[in-house]
Amino acid sequence: MLGLDIEELEELEEDAGLGNGGLGRLAACFLDSMATLGLAAYGYGIRYEYGIFAQKIVNGEQQEEPDDWLRFGNPWEKARPEYMLPVNFYGRVEDTPTGKKWVDTQVVFALPYDNPIPGYGNNVVNTLRLWSAKSPVEFNLKFFNDGDYIQAVIDRNIAENISRVLYPNDNFFEGKELRLKQEYFMVAATLQDIIRRYKSSRFGSREVVRTGFDSFPDKVAIQLNDTHPSMAVPELMRILVDVEGLDWDKAWELTKRTCAYTNHTVLPEALERWPCSMLENILPRHMQIIYHINYLFMQDVSKRYPGDMDKMRRMSLIEESGEKRVNMAHLCIVGSHAVNGVAAIHSQILKDSVFRDFYEMDPEKFQNKTNGITPRRWLLLCNPALSDIICEKIGESWVVHLEELQQLKQFAEDAGFQRAVQKAKQENKMRLAELLTKEYNVEINPSSIFDIQVKRIHEYKRQLLNCLHIITMYNRIKKNPNAHFVPRTVMIGGKAAPGYYMAKNIIKLICAVGNVVNNDPIVGDKLKVIYLENYRVTLAEKIMPAADLSEQISTAGTEASGTGNMKFMLNGALTVGTLDGANIEMAEEMGLDNIFIFGMNVEEVEALHRKGYNALDYYNSLPELKQCIDQIQNGFFSAGNPDTFKDVVNALLYHDRYLHNSCEGMISQLVCLVT
Ligand SMILES: *Cc1c(COP(=O)(O)O)cnc(C)c1O
Repeated sequence: MLGLDIEELEELEEDAGLGNGGLGRLAACFLDSMATLGLAAYGYGIRYEYGIFAQKIVNGEQQEEPDDWLRFGNPWEKARPEYMLPVNFYGRVEDTPTGKKWVDTQVVFALPYDNPIPGYGNNVVNTLRLWSAKSPVEFNLKFFNDGDYIQAVIDRNIAENISRVLYPNDNFFEGKELRLKQEYFMVAATLQDIIRRYKSSRFGSREVVRTGFDSFPDKVAIQLNDTHPSMAVPELMRILVDVEGLDWDKAWELTKRTCAYTNHTVLPEALERWPCSMLENILPRHMQIIYHINYLFMQDVSKRYPGDMDKMRRMSLIEESGEKRVNMAHLCIVGSHAVNGVAAIHSQILKDSVFRDFYEMDPEKFQNKTNGITPRRWLLLCNPALSDIICEKIGESWVVHLEELQQLKQFAEDAGFQRAVQKAKQENKMRLAELLTKEYNVEINPSSIFDIQVKRIHEYKRQLLNCLHIITMYNRIKKNPNAHFVPRTVMIGGKAAPGYYMAKNIIKLICAVGNVVNNDPIVGDKLKVIYLENYRVTLAEKIMPAADLSEQISTAGTEASGTGNMKFMLNGALTVGTLDGANIEMAEEMGLDNIFIFGMNVEEVEALHRKGYNALDYYNSLPELKQCIDQIQNGFFSAGNPDTFKDVVNALLYHDRYLHNSCEGMISQLVCLVT
């Protein structure tokens, strides 16, 4: 009516790229599911002015561009200045007759923006409340008096830098002061908000007079999404003890009953360990509280394991080797009544190794909650063609009861149903091919196998293994150009953290291999390699429905769960995967006939590490693998320049934590079955 096309308008909307990868996406899927289940749940986060950077691929390399997603405004949010709250930093702790006081602090205000989270077809709308940093009016007041009015106003920005930009690391801890401030900013604003709401509730206000905070844990549950909000534990203690005047033991019981902790990774470089010196400076009272929590916890440990000093050292919240640091995972475990991993294997690894001492001391605390995805976004919305076919057969209640998809089994041999599903997939592939041609000027054969790996670039996720497989297929075609080969388009996409040198090298190698493969006339359209630029949720929604093969090939024991694996599966792609994360449970659910599992299990990986992994053994005994690595090394993919990928080759042959070479032989045999 207005001459506008709703689809065109939709395309103009920016992604709210406020997370890095699976962890943030999981929170978003949970919000959808909680609203759909009618649970009274809130999501809390930071309203970053700049979300995850936009990725450009320029001459085969990643370039980062700032994500200025609020440039044209955000129609979905509503500022709530009436709920603005102060957050304190720095200062010192004063002993007073009425207890400890945190004084002489610098204040930043947290201004909430509410975003509606509608449930599916149930008239429920929950709230995602995102905090934005606002300078207080009196910020830098002393400079006003000094006469530098202009500079004082300009400097107001400094306080507001707290919510300026998302740190773009996935599965990596970067111990920057600004990051710690972001984490505490969110925690402090959120806890005040929760307590304000508790007190103003019918329940809270009456009960508070009679029994203080006794019913707080019955009315409030705080689920910590990794250790990023771990300061919630000492902050809740500070509020209950210093502000509300509860005694320590009571406050500790309430805190433990309120908090629960989800662990998302076992990679040591991802675990948050903040230096005590930094905490002492920025949050002096919290540092005291953490020391006291640790003092009491160490007493518990020594009562339970008298004389076991090594156990005390291992379980301490404070790490003393080198610079003194707080182990935030330990803080979360001790301050929570429940701890969970995100897939069965991951939760088992937490009990067996990473948190073994804690598990032995308190086994009841440890649980599993395997990750999931919302079928509303990842099937109904993104794949209308397949959704319609499913609805025709089994109705539409699968949208809120996904297990009902089991009913489709009765149509598995139904030729008409098979044709319809295949037709939907083919149309989705043609649509993606068209988009890639339009946006990136690459020709794609829509009748080739779409073999796709999209996720953040990380060595543990083994995009390099995929790359070795591509090169192996290329060499086979070249060696035997007339042999039967089902045409395949391999697509790889994902962002590398800007400071992750090896990840950026991996992108460069994939693009370089693509350049050679895609322009080789002997290969023709049998094999194409496409780098999918700027992988993000809106692109994922177009990719998943068009995938034939899903690559989930992390080294066993490294991917906590994965959720990309589930998105592909729900859209009918076959998984090529290792026995890692949720792949294992997916394989159990669908049966080994319906998934391509390869490689070592976690016990075999551990055994190989113990025995001593020598990549050269595989390099020397597998001629096809040797050829690949030699080509990368001798400049075959880099215009004859042997230096370009020397660090990649060096990592593969001499410092490979992820055992790429141990399974290259297997993946190339296995994937060729898909023909
Ligand atoms: C689902 C999703 C992820 C997580 O993918 P994994 O394969 O589980 O690592 C990352 N980024 C985006 C944009 C996603 O949609």
